[in-house]
Amino acid sequence: MRIILATFVLLACAACGPAGGRHSVVAAFYPLAYAAREVGGTAYAVHDLTPAGSEPHDVELTPQAVAEIQRAGVVLYLSHGFQPAVSDAVRQASGKRVDVLAGLPVRRSDPHVWLDPVLYARIVRRVGAALERPGEARALAARVLRLDVAYRRGLAHCTRRDFVTSHAAFGYLAARYGLRQIAITGIDPESEPSPQELASLARLVRREHIGTVFFERLVSPKLAQTVAREAGARAAVLDPIEGLTAQEARSGATYLTLMRRNLAALREALGCR
Ligand SMILES: [Zn+2]
Repeated sequence: MRIILATFVLLACAACGPAGGRHSVVAAFYPLAYAAREVGGTAYAVHDLTPAGSEPHDVELTPQAVAEIQRAGVVLYLSHGFQPAVSDAVRQASGKRVDVLAGLPVRRSDPHVWLDPVLYARIVRRVGAALERPGEARALAARVLRLDVAYRRGLAHCTRRDFVTSHAAFGYLAARYGLRQIAITGIDPESEPSPQELASLARLVRREHIGTVFFERLVSPKLAQTVAREAGARAAVLDPIEGLTAQEARSGATYLTLMRRNLAALREALGCR
């Protein structure tokens, strides 16, 4: 019965065309949805597959979300095992499928390219090409590249170059601005370090006078707070911008404002002048 119903829904919607005259875009998570909404304007209805306030790695999809991917005009997603359920569903998509990691300098299957403004500007232009809105994409890319200037200036003269993060989301950002990321967990926030690894990290933080251990809002701060406490360091937020919390969404936070907030947090932690 379920199979028959699903087939019926797919057939019905193959014929129904753009909803309310707007073209449908499905974006795998917040940074792609943000780019699509800014670039697409009112001509596109953008749906973010990762629910607000949840963390996008290994997101699970409802049958409705799978059907939406299959019939969307454009699907924006990341390959390299970031969201295997999305990559699977994309194989049956009938519209344009855009893997935004394709053609970018991806290292060690690390998907976190959006935290490097230079790479994110390239993603924005790719979204502009997919949505056939190159002018709007150029305007947003220019705003994103102003972040690059701010980061270059803001991180040029600092006492420290090492920073400790919750999961390893900031590798591209660190490489771009000559910093070194020390992550408590791996590329995926689910990977758990052993008590020995935590203790040795706390010793490193203390020995190197790192002073701040960063945590994030969408995963539990427990590990970061443990390391900070053991090392006598403070804990502060550095946002991997993988999604907005409900409070951030209400207060009008965007990729651009969160990147500015991250720069301020890094400058304080690294003792930048
Ligand atoms: Zn991540």
